[in-house]
Amino acid sequence: MIFAANFKTNHTRKSTELYIHDLHVKLRAKNPEDTVYIFPPSTALDHYEGDFTIGTQNAYPAHNGAYTGEIGLEQLDEFDIKTILIGHSERREYMDETQEKVAEKFSFFQAEGYEIIYCIGEPLEIREKGFEAVMQYLLSQFDGIDIGYEKLIVAYEPIWAIGTGRSATVEEISDTHRALKKAISDKPLLYGGSVKPANIKEIISIAGVDGVLVGSASLDAGSFSEMVLA
Ligand code: PEP
Repeated sequence: MIFAANFKTNHTRKSTELYIHDLHVKLRAKNPEDTVYIFPPSTALDHYEGDFTIGTQNAYPAHNGAYTGEIGLEQLDEFDIKTILIGHSERREYMDETQEKVAEKFSFFQAEGYEIIYCIGEPLEIREKGFEAVMQYLLSQFDGIDIGYEKLIVAYEPIWAIGTGRSATVEEISDTHRALKKAISDKPLLYGGSVKPANIKEIISIAGVDGVLVGSASLDAGSFSEMVLA
């Protein structure tokens, strides 16, 4: 299983350091076959010791240059970062990342050999239109994306389940993952959206779920490690 923690705009450099130290100790009991990723804020990127991979929540598709407020490859290389989240719904919505921009970013980081956790997800109004509308919407988020890329991990995150405390039902996850797997074949497929210690076992036991991407419940090392060890 894959367990990914997305801190978003939470934690400082200091608190990330303390978190990772705590997690490192707790993860000594983890199944060696499970893989853990941590996406701290950019200010907390660093070399950390432990059985996990540190990735970046975002970066500009350039080595360096005049892109005020962004970080590029040069800054990521300093910490040997080789994993990136692309297409998260918060970036699509609040940072106006269109499918075209997302695809451009994907191609750049693919060419650089990055491992990419690529996020897709539908808003509530699409979910309410029914399954066919959901699948049409989700598949359109693969426009311009090379789904044959060997270092691709897909994360299905229904927007209405993110940060709301309301996870998708087992049936919704199961049906959506089954249909998505047909499109992405052997690529790992994560579920994200209000995953927490109380529902982790149920979610990771669903066929077609290869892991989880966790926001709110990953902010505490105790809660996140509880899920990894569940
Ligand atoms: C996310 O934004 O990737 C996410 C899954 O958030 P949460 O776990 O808080 O719903």
